[in-house]
Amino acid sequence: MNQKTIFSIVIAISVIALAACSTATSTSTSNTTNAVSPTATTDNTTSNETASTASSNTAISMDPNLACSGGKTSATVTPELTEGPYYKAGSPELANLYQAGMAGTKLVVTGYVYNTNCQPVANALLDFWQADANGTYDNSGYTLRGHQYTDANGRFELTTVVPGLYPGRTEHIHFKVQAPNGKLLTSQLFFPGVTQNDSDGIFNASLLLSIQKNSDSWQAKYNFVVPSN
Ligand code: FE
Repeated sequence: MNQKTIFSIVIAISVIALAACSTATSTSTSNTTNAVSPTATTDNTTSNETASTASSNTAISMDPNLACSGGKTSATVTPELTEGPYYKAGSPELANLYQAGMAGTKLVVTGYVYNTNCQPVANALLDFWQADANGTYDNSGYTLRGHQYTDANGRFELTTVVPGLYPGRTEHIHFKVQAPNGKLLTSQLFFPGVTQNDSDGIFNASLLLSIQKNSDSWQAKYNFVVPSN
């Protein structure tokens, strides 16, 4: 093998090595490109979530319509409505009326009990009862019936399901509310956007929940106002 042949072989090896290197770089670039792709998708998802949060914020901006919100210093007492035929005394002390496997959309209602001067009422009684998602009341037991007391800030939280319709009525949740040593007030909460609201003789728009609908549950707000002692 003469010197010229050896030189040719070295050149050929160098060319092959360079080509391999170039392919590797190209593959590496391609991988980088692929790696960027999911990031872009993630960004889109984040952007969608942001949009969804923005729309949730729109729902939350309804809250200034709630009694005593937005710095208001006075409010009228929550309107009273008929108790109806399905009230049962002696409900358990229970803030979570939802049970695993229960039919219907899970609903969490939060809010406060205020007096007419918009001062929060601690230890106020709230007694809730309602139909299940099929419009049926438990008249033999206490399913979807429970009472609770507001905390030191006058706040309550009820976990339940969205009630179903039953003949002659729109969707509603019955309640009784009472400040310590105060008057016992009986009424019903309603849901916005229900067609049957318009034909329900008991319906009162000032008892509409402020609702934010999420995919797995609904969040609702309502502030009760009881007479000042
Ligand atoms: Fe009812």
